[in-house]
Amino acid sequence: MPLSTQILLLGDSRLYQVSEEVKKKDTDQISTIVASLHDALMNFRRQYGRGRAIAAPQLGIMKRIMYMCIDTPTVFINPSFTWKSSEMYELWDDCMSFPELLVKVKRHKACRLSFYDQSWHKQEWDLTGDLSELLQHEYDHLDGILATMRAIDGRSFALASQKHLVGFTR
Ligand SMILES: [Zn+2]
Repeated sequence: MPLSTQILLLGDSRLYQVSEEVKKKDTDQISTIVASLHDALMNFRRQYGRGRAIAAPQLGIMKRIMYMCIDTPTVFINPSFTWKSSEMYELWDDCMSFPELLVKVKRHKACRLSFYDQSWHKQEWDLTGDLSELLQHEYDHLDGILATMRAIDGRSFALASQKHLVGFTR
């Protein structure tokens, strides 16, 4: 059965649920899930001209899988952070589950992400800059945490149409 490629939107209770670990015996399902994540990301990109990564729970697939497609596609299965810098920085964040909204959050400047790739090989990546904040954002989805819940304060929200006023550059 084909999976949905419809991205859940802010207000859907599934976005607040904690997703399940993927078991090695379920790896045959992963390529189907990844194909749906890819299609959803590409649809979003066609519509909005942006979008770098997506997490499975955004399609209502409650599994700990993230998919990123910037230059090449990358699949992250059961990711975990083995280190996060104490140094944080502020940025305006966006999300495919609320494309009209920007939220000012704090993220760790650098981190180290451990995960299984699609061939079930363990990988560890050191992340800085854009990739660091992006994958912290996607990882939060696996724990049912949205950028809105990390807003720095009550003024940390802007409509995407106002991005020129807040300096959002993505
Ligand atoms: Zn998101």
